[in-house]
Amino acid sequence: MSEKPRIYVGCHLSVTNGYEAMGKTMLDFGGNTFAFFTRNPRGGRTKELPPEDAQALCALAERERFGPLVAHGSYTMNLCAAGAETRANALDMLQKDLLRMEQLPGNYYNFHPGAHTGQGIEAGVCLIAQALDAVLWSGMHTTVLLETMAGKGTEVGGRFEELRAIIDRVTLGDRLGVCLDTCHIWDAGYDLAHDLDGVLEEFDRVIGLERLYAVHFNDSKNPCGSHKDRHEKLGEGQLGLETLRRIALHPALAGRPFILETPNDDAGYIREIGLVRSWLAPD
Ligand code: FE
Ligand code: FE
Ligand code: ZN
Repeated sequence: MSEKPRIYVGCHLSVTNGYEAMGKTMLDFGGNTFAFFTRNPRGGRTKELPPEDAQALCALAERERFGPLVAHGSYTMNLCAAGAETRANALDMLQKDLLRMEQLPGNYYNFHPGAHTGQGIEAGVCLIAQALDAVLWSGMHTTVLLETMAGKGTEVGGRFEELRAIIDRVTLGDRLGVCLDTCHIWDAGYDLAHDLDGVLEEFDRVIGLERLYAVHFNDSKNPCGSHKDRHEKLGEGQLGLETLRRIALHPALAGRPFILETPNDDAGYIREIGLVRSWLAPD
């Protein structure tokens, strides 16, 4: 019978109708993974996760041979803010999110490392690592992913070295991985269009490809090195379709969930999921 799909592809979905409903929606969309916000991405409110709904989603994902799901933490969660209250609030969100993720064992939880708000990268790295040390536990069933960032403002994570430094400082570093956002690293200055192999080699050298668990698959409105972070539909941005196709087919990324965070409506996501699947080399 057929092998595992070479890559998993899906998009962000809304939790409004519950968890199993997202799985069904993704089946309708033609995908085999998805992302969702663990709470309102800007306000921080959570949606209840009833155990039976969580179990129904897990059963669907297993039956339909989905790849790992990639939950996304709130944008307001800043583990390395200068303000102690913002940091405490972020730590509380992270802890609660990770406890709730135990209802969906074996999946990923991705978050933006944070913005150091003027304290400097080194201080930011230390605060993020301290926070992770406080909330990770041995025996947890979620892999926690640091997202590569565009290096906008005081964001931590615009260089691979910064993510490596966080991982190195965390005691349970084996629970940590990285989610590579194609728009973000392009905007950060990693030239995926002209040196894809070189960028992935650099990732491997600095962080290690075995730490790369998921990809946020986006085109970018802006040129390489712009530090902007404005996502674009596949093929309508500065990365372009040919580069994106080479990324999706790159052997170093095989088997990872590819999550679309492109500015689309449902029809647009269905089209992009179909496009990515059409690129897959026949086994
Ligand atoms: Fe993100
Ligand atoms: Fe992203
Ligand atoms: Zn972004």
